[in-house]
Amino acid sequence: MSTAPFIVFGAPDIEEAEIQEVLATMRSGWLGTGPRVAAFEKAFAELKNAQPAQVAAVNSCTAALHLSFVAAGLKAGDEVITSPLTFCATANAILHTGATPVLADVDPATMNIDPARIAEKIGPRTRAIVPVHFAGLPCDMDAIGALARKHELAVIEDCAHAVEALYRGEPTGTLGDFGCFSFYVTKNVTSGEGGMVLAKSERDAERIRMLALHGMTRDAWKRFSDEGFKPYQVVEAGFKYNMMDLQAAIGIHQLARVQEGWERRRLLWARYQQAFAALPVALPQEPPAHVRHGLHLYTLRIDKARCRIGRDDFLTRMTRAGIGVGVHYTALPEHPYYQQTLGWRPEDTPEATAIGRETVSLPLSPKLTEAEARRVIDAVHAALGA
Ligand SMILES: *Cc1c(COP(=O)(O)O)cnc(C)c1O
Repeated sequence: MSTAPFIVFGAPDIEEAEIQEVLATMRSGWLGTGPRVAAFEKAFAELKNAQPAQVAAVNSCTAALHLSFVAAGLKAGDEVITSPLTFCATANAILHTGATPVLADVDPATMNIDPARIAEKIGPRTRAIVPVHFAGLPCDMDAIGALARKHELAVIEDCAHAVEALYRGEPTGTLGDFGCFSFYVTKNVTSGEGGMVLAKSERDAERIRMLALHGMTRDAWKRFSDEGFKPYQVVEAGFKYNMMDLQAAIGIHQLARVQEGWERRRLLWARYQQAFAALPVALPQEPPAHVRHGLHLYTLRIDKARCRIGRDDFLTRMTRAGIGVGVHYTALPEHPYYQQTLGWRPEDTPEATAIGRETVSLPLSPKLTEAEARRVIDAVHAALGA
């Protein structure tokens, strides 16, 4: 066992500004959805070159996905094509609308959904495509957009890894009809828990804001403001998905440092690429010139035949060395629920399945010190006997 302190995977970089803002929010007496959420939405819209009326802050990316799917009109009997190499929330949110997720395998080089496989899965019931910008690398949005136009499909981008990513200069989340972002603790920008919808149409964003708060026509903080009491009306059976000011208090300052965090991760990323170049592991592909990578995850592939150690043993060795590691992701068809209810089989998406069995994510938090980065690098070499 290592005696050095454990390096927590995805440790958030919380600074004094967030702490003071949380305290100020608590002292203000207004913890719920209010002025800080509005300020966070405004700052987020600016980052994305969008209008504040196009965004809606919610309490998770899962909620953002669910509300986008509802706003896109998905219902029972519809099919939605997505990636097998994603967090379960992507598929679960589709299921919660009554629609059926359909998997199109990934391109092993990019780990992103392969447009050629999407084309094979489009049928008479297909209504939408949900590309997941894996690790922060934008999907092939030219090809996906062309398929969507040809077959009149909605595009809902899962941007949980891709808050900083650009595709041909355009921010991810603005390429499809909806973009869904996560501010979960391990993500590049965190609010503890939180999410954001970025909708192409302001009307969709308006409806999502309403659906996020019970389907009521007026925000509570406006109802009780000094403009006077205004009763609400329920116009749809909505959800309880609103973000709190307490969460936005964290998010506002995280967002203000988004570029700083990205620069720091870019240095770490480059350092890893160089340090592992001679090892018998597969490294992430260098991003093509027309994209800006969000640099959310740094993943290695541990092929047992080449590395003489399996991925799971590698995870154990890293953990014993005091390095927190992650698996993104075990392919969705490996999970019993989807096998039992949808009949998915790992062999039907062989690329995602192989990645899911071989992949490991290394710490990439901007909080990582030089000495900690050195420890990660040394531990990888030691684990591989190199
Ligand atoms: C984290 C994540 C989600 C879910 O985000 P929450 O904010 O935790 O709901 C969805 N999709 C992907 C790809 C993710 O990484």
